[in-house]
Amino acid sequence: MYTYPQLLEIIKELRGEHGCPWDKAQTHESLISCLRDECEEVVEAIEKKDEENLCEELGDVLLQVLLHAQIAKEEGLFTMEDVVNTLAEKMVRRHPHVFGDEEYGSLEQNKKRWEEIKKAEREAKSNKNRTNIRNTLDKQ
Ligand code: MG
Repeated sequence: MYTYPQLLEIIKELRGEHGCPWDKAQTHESLISCLRDECEEVVEAIEKKDEENLCEELGDVLLQVLLHAQIAKEEGLFTMEDVVNTLAEKMVRRHPHVFGDEEYGSLEQNKKRWEEIKKAEREAKSNKNRTNIRNTLDKQ
């Protein structure tokens, strides 16, 4: 049984010096159609209630994520650890009723709070982008 760290090594090897020509040639852009196809295959497996195929197709989607992360790592942009950490942080932040001390009386309240948190995230990202642009302009 392979482990997650071994899977990361396999992906790295595929894009490495002695790797696979197809994998090595891929870019974020060239993989767009693969990602769409693999997502559609997950949907088909769910609709057919084919659990064995669903397991395989979810892996194919994960491969797409891993390939994008490997390409980004080679470009010095981010790593799979960053993808995992960003998602974990987001899940914790968006579920204060699970990981914090907030309590909701209804699903409606839960949904309202979720939207508030997403709005705050968008504003924080927008402010960060403005700060980055200002810092870039200041350096010119
Ligand atoms: Mg597939």
